[in-house]
Amino acid sequence: PLSFRDVSRAALTTILDKNRHYYLDGKVADYIPELSKMDAKAVAIAVINEKGILIGAGNTQTKFTMQSISKPIALMLAVMEHGEESVFQKMGYFGTDKPFNHFSNLETMGKPLNPMMNAGAILTTSLISGDGQVPFDKILNMLRYITDNPTLDYSESVYASEKETGHRNRGMFYIMKNAGLISGSEEQLNNYFRQCSIELTTEDLAKIGFFFAHHCVRFDGDQRYKNSEMSKLIQSQMLIAGMYEFSGEYARTVGLPSKSGVGGGIVVSVPNQAGIAVFSAPLDTHGNSVVGYHMILDLVKQYNLSIF
Ligand code: GLU
Repeated sequence: PLSFRDVSRAALTTILDKNRHYYLDGKVADYIPELSKMDAKAVAIAVINEKGILIGAGNTQTKFTMQSISKPIALMLAVMEHGEESVFQKMGYFGTDKPFNHFSNLETMGKPLNPMMNAGAILTTSLISGDGQVPFDKILNMLRYITDNPTLDYSESVYASEKETGHRNRGMFYIMKNAGLISGSEEQLNNYFRQCSIELTTEDLAKIGFFFAHHCVRFDGDQRYKNSEMSKLIQSQMLIAGMYEFSGEYARTVGLPSKSGVGGGIVVSVPNQAGIAVFSAPLDTHGNSVVGYHMILDLVKQYNLSIF
């Protein structure tokens, strides 16, 4: 196979052009009204190679909301503050055959399946210390650090839309409060809605992939948060539950830790090598970007990137 070290803008452009037509097979998320306004035809792919150099093709400057891709960051902060053992006393390490917003296994097991589905993610965010918006600010600041982009922020309109329509998430929040897993106010749930509404570009996203691929070392070599155990934890969760109920099949076909969001982004970590990110808003029935998945599949085959 070709060496991924030599991946070029031309190679990415070829992959993008070959797969962009798949947007017709997907549907832009509309369960949050603001999301339905996204441009179905915008498409981007970006790679941060092992030297930390960015290569991109398509609409790499188009902003979209990160949605579920914020979940690994919330997990990282909760574990930094409380330790892995304490966090995972309150949730499982399980994979899933259920959609992202499923209540499993709150009633049967008494705790969320994993931190990559909504219930577990709402819980991890509520575990981050601080009053009011402080836990959210910690998530935002960590993302600004990882991307080295101080301009990152959240969309007020998407946030308002999430908050207005997030009844299932509110249901999960109160079930967990009833179970004694959550002790704070609904502002903790609002912080989850805020983190979902953080806007970034495909380039920003590739830097997140690089960070977890490289033991939490930033793309420019900054080692402030270097932590191999953390990156193992996060990548393993991405591998088993990062693509919703499609995670098992995705592990078979792509074979790389990845996390998708209903905003149309997917971030991929190629362990010890690179970060990859794709964006295209139309989603398949699992909530994963259709064009994004096909571009990743081609890239992985072309450069033999599966970890298996
Ligand atoms: N804001 C979305 C929700 O909680 C995030 C879902 C996702 O990207 O999977 O409903």
